[in-house]
Order: sequence, then C-alpha cells, then structure tokens
Amino acid sequence: MSITENVIRIRAEIEKAALAAGRDPKEIRLCAATKMNDAAAVREAIAAGVDCCGENRVQELTQKLSQNAYAGAEIHFIGHLQTNKVRQVVGKVSLIHSIDSLRLLEAVSKEATRQGICQDILLEINIGNEDSKSGFSPEELPEVLEEASHLSGIFIRGLMAIPPICQNSGDNNKFFQKMYQLSVDIRTKKYDNVCSIALSMGMSTDYREAILYGSTMVRIGTDIFGARNYATSKP
Ligand SMILES: *Cc1c(COP(=O)(O)O)cnc(C)c1O
Repeated sequence: MSITENVIRIRAEIEKAALAAGRDPKEIRLCAATKMNDAAAVREAIAAGVDCCGENRVQELTQKLSQNAYAGAEIHFIGHLQTNKVRQVVGKVSLIHSIDSLRLLEAVSKEATRQGICQDILLEINIGNEDSKSGFSPEELPEVLEEASHLSGIFIRGLMAIPPICQNSGDNNKFFQKMYQLSVDIRTKKYDNVCSIALSMGMSTDYREAILYGSTMVRIGTDIFGARNYATSKP
C-alpha cells in the first residue's frame, strides 16, 4: 500500500467512526506523525490530504523545515520538548501538543512573548498515570489552567494524551472517556487563555475508538508510512 492509498483508507475509516458516533467527520483532523520519515514521504502524505504534520524531535523538525517538506500543511510538534529547545519550536509550528510540565509551559510563554506572538498549545495529560510518561495528572489540571491564565504568549487549545500501549482494541476506551470528561469539565468552567477544547488522542491502533470518545485530532504514523525502522534510525 502506498502512502496515498493509506491516507485515503484512513480518511474513510475516520469518516465511518465519526458517523457511527453521530459526529461530523469534518470535526476530526488527521495529523501525520512524521517521525523518522523523510521529506519525500512527508510531501506525499500532504498531497494525499493530511491536515497537519506532527514532528517529535526538534532536530528532525529543523531539518525538514530547511527542506521545505511541510509546504501545504500545518506543522505541529507532538514529542517531548526540552525547555532548552523551545526557541527552535515556538513560532515555527502552529500547535505544540506536548506541554507536559509547568516549567515547559513557562518557557514557551516566555519565548513566545519575546517573539511577540501567541503560541497555540495543548496540555499533555498522563491519563494512564504511567511512570514512564510525562504529562499532567487529571487532578492537577485545574491548578495548571489557573496558573496558565496568568501567562502571556500562549493559548491553550485543548488536551492531548498518549494512553498506555494496549493489546486489544477497546482497552484504552476508559482513558479516552476520562479525557473527554476532562474536556467537558474545562469547558463548563471558564478560564482565561483557554479556547475551544481540542482533544488530541488516537494513534494507528486505536484512532477509531478515540473518535467514538470525542477525539478531534488523531495522530497517525505507522498506518500512513508503514513500520518505522529504528535500527537505522535516520530521519
Ligand atoms: C509516533 C507517535 C504517534 C503515532 O504512532 P503510530 O502508532 O505510529 O500511529 C502519535 N503520537 C505521538 C506523540 C507519537 O510520538
């Protein structure tokens, strides 16, 4: 299967899942998780109609930007971001999905303010409460939102989660449901600097279920580009 065929198939699956959930398929954006795929692959995915490209590593982002690989699509940052690298990301991407600590939130705010811009971000929630993952706990979210309302240069557009790796389809539904509930909770309260709540959740193995539980952005790598080859590990 080519990248183009994969994108067309996934679009159809997204539409099917949305309609099954009684949702408008247009509410759901397809983000290609482009890590370890080269500029040519990225261009093919964009030509096939993905809405945005999500990059994980600053080095790959910088390289593909210099190759003009993302022309025609929005660029998002979806990987763990170190505070000492915010300068290479803020202002270069339209959305950072992976704000996972107050320290990072403040660093992004500071850099965006320095640039005189407003950076759209999502707050990453460690929804499975896993030691191996970063992100805010659902319990600390109100405090983080309160804190964020005093920061300049950022707009919180919603929440993102990477639930635990699951064996069976449906295993993560409880986490997707929790994320949906969090987004509803936020919407009912009113915070400054918080806009309409996007939900970035669902990857190759579970995006259909994520859509049933309200996902507005699925991040898909393997199903678009094929399995990543970690052995050679070249971008
Ligand atoms: C790699 C990655 C994805 C896509 O994962 P697949 O299982 O290949 O679809 C989604 N989100 C993030 C944050 C990723 O790093």
